[in-house]
Amino acid sequence: MSDLPFQSAVMPEALQLNSPLQFHCHPGISCFNACCQRADITLTPYDVLRLKRRLGLTSTEFIRQFTVPFQMDGDGLPGIKLKTDDNGACLQLAGAAGCSVYSDRPTVCRYYPLALLTLRKKDSAIAEERYSLVKEDHCQGHAAARTLSIAEYRAEQHCDEFDAKNRDWYQLVLKKKSAGPAVGRPPQLSLQFFFMASYDGDTFRRFVLSDNFRNTYTLPAEFYTEIEQDDEALLEFSYRFLRQVLFGERTIQEMADAWEQRVTQRQDVWEARRQIEIERRAAAEDDKYRADGNDDCGCAG
Ligand code: SF4
Repeated sequence: MSDLPFQSAVMPEALQLNSPLQFHCHPGISCFNACCQRADITLTPYDVLRLKRRLGLTSTEFIRQFTVPFQMDGDGLPGIKLKTDDNGACLQLAGAAGCSVYSDRPTVCRYYPLALLTLRKKDSAIAEERYSLVKEDHCQGHAAARTLSIAEYRAEQHCDEFDAKNRDWYQLVLKKKSAGPAVGRPPQLSLQFFFMASYDGDTFRRFVLSDNFRNTYTLPAEFYTEIEQDDEALLEFSYRFLRQVLFGERTIQEMADAWEQRVTQRQDVWEARRQIEIERRAAAEDDKYRADGNDDCGCAG
């Protein structure tokens, strides 16, 4: 299967929603599941949400058990793919029965044999969606006597719901990639935030609900109540947060005295560290004094 646009080796044929697609994949076809035997599935944030719910795991557990990391660009923008067995088969493949998570399968699996291309013309702020066709030798689906439009195929595969939940994320990945070297490599901390906010929703939720976050941003109490209970609302907020972290789009207001508060909170820690260092040096000095054979107090008597 192909990746999403940001890593696809497939050359775009720039098909549109009304372009015809001759294709049919079904359990009776001779190559059924062959594509899942050689799976290369890049995951989106909403894919992770659906799969971790389906498997009854936290996002952290899901990432550890079922994904592998990769870099989406030369700046190390972190991506994740579904883990496979040693032969390249997807771990969600349940033998002849096919995909064990079918109704929650990832976006890439839904689109196959299409690849979604999010493109932005030079000097345009608007990203457009196009599609390219992936034709692999083993796939018999292209020989099927069924033609439908790409719009109809997308509806059949329920791509809309996934795209709606991922669209803002596609846009920010595209913006990051098209910003080029002029913007420079984001700091390591920004890349870590990108990973957490994009994929590890349960850790991101704890971060947003922490006292430190609440004392830094001016968000209403209802916001925190919603974030505590609603995975989709958290996902939406994560994209907003990432735009602020990566591009400085300041839509989340900071407390006027957030920096001063942070300094005040840290002051105790800094003072404790200073005292520990003073005591460490004094002890080292005493040890040296004794080692030099100066056990006596040195008083005359
Ligand atoms: S998630 Fe399902 S459809 Fe996608 S590659 Fe794995 S087994 Fe195949």
